Amino acid sequence: MRIASTFGAVLCCLFYSKIAAQTNTTTAVPTYLPIPSSAASVPLNAAGYALEDFGNGAFMVTEGVYQALFIVSTTGIVLVDAPPTIGRKILFAIGNTTHLPVTHLIYSHSHADHIGGASLITAAYPNATIIAHANTFTQLNLTGDPSRPLPTKTFQDEYKLRVANHTLQLSYKGINHVPGNIFIYHSASKTLMLVDIVFPGWVPFDRLGEVSYVPGFIKAHDQILAYDFLHYIGGHLSRSGIRDDVQTQKNYVTDLFGNCKSAIEASATDDPVLGAEKIVEAALAANPGNSWAEFRAYLDVVNNYCANVTGEIWDGVLAGVDVFGESNANVMVESLRIDYGVLGPFGAM
Ligand SMILES: [Zn+2]
Repeated sequence: MRIASTFGAVLCCLFYSKIAAQTNTTTAVPTYLPIPSSAASVPLNAAGYALEDFGNGAFMVTEGVYQALFIVSTTGIVLVDAPPTIGRKILFAIGNTTHLPVTHLIYSHSHADHIGGASLITAAYPNATIIAHANTFTQLNLTGDPSRPLPTKTFQDEYKLRVANHTLQLSYKGINHVPGNIFIYHSASKTLMLVDIVFPGWVPFDRLGEVSYVPGFIKAHDQILAYDFLHYIGGHLSRSGIRDDVQTQKNYVTDLFGNCKSAIEASATDDPVLGAEKIVEAALAANPGNSWAEFRAYLDVVNNYCANVTGEIWDGVLAGVDVFGESNANVMVESLRIDYGVLGPFGAM
C-alpha cells in the first residue's frame, strides 16, 4: 500500500513530532520506574563534587550530573570541558589535587552546558591555551557567548597534545552529536572522553542526547569500542563508564533502530494498529484539510509503538527508558525516514 497525499511533499522537512508531557505541578507530578542500581549516583564530598582517580594523572570531576576530565602533568593541568553546573568546583578539585596551573583547556564540543564555565577557568588562568575542533570555533564565533571564550588553537582531523610527561590524542571522526564533537584519548590511563554519546547506566538524554545526526551517533558506538580504553567519560551523570556500558547502549540503540524500522515497514501494510491508511483517514475526517494533523497522527502511532516495544525490553535495565524512550523513538523514526530512506507508505510510487 502506498499513500499519495498532499502532505507527501513536506515530509522531508518535518523532523519529528513531539508529544509534550503536560504536567500540572499543582496536581500531578509524573512518576517513573525506580532507577536500577547501576545508575545510582556516587556520593559527593562536603564541597559538592566527586573525584574519580583513573591513575597516571587522570581525574574525572562531577557534581552528579555533568563531568569534566583533568590531567596532571609535571608542568601544569590539561582540563577537558568546564560545565557551568560544576563551575568553580572544578578549580577546587584541581586545587585540592595539585598547585600547578591550568595550562590547557580543551573543548569537547561547543555546547554551553559542557563548556559554559570556561570563562571561570580563563579568569583564573588567562594564559591557558584553548583547544577545539575548527567547527567548534565556527559555532562559538557565531553566537559570541562570553562564558565560552573562543579557542586559541583549532584542528581538523587529528591533534596530538603533548604537555610535559603526558599526551592526549584528539580526533574528529565526523558529525555525530554535533559537528566538531571530538574523541579525547589519554593513553597513559586508558581514558576516553566523547561527550553526549553514551550515558553509562542510563538511556540517552532527550532526543538521543539532542543528536544532530543519528547515523553518526550510531557509528560512534563502534568508534568508541575500537579504542583500547578502561574508562569512558560521556560528560553526563555521576559515574564514568566501562566497555560494557558502551556495548549495552549500543544494544539499546540497535533494538530501537530495529523496532522503529519494523514499525515504519508495518505501517505500509493493512496492519490493524500501524496501517497508515486508516490512521490518516481518521485524522483527516476529524481535521478536514489539516495535513499536519494527518501526519502527526501517523507519527504518533508509529513512535508510540516503537517506544513501547523497546521499553518492554529495556525498562529496568537502563534508567530512564520510560522518561525519554518515546523522545528517542521519535528521533530514530525520523532518521530512519530521512537519513536511511525507510519511508514505509511514503516511499516512491
Ligand atoms: Zn552537547
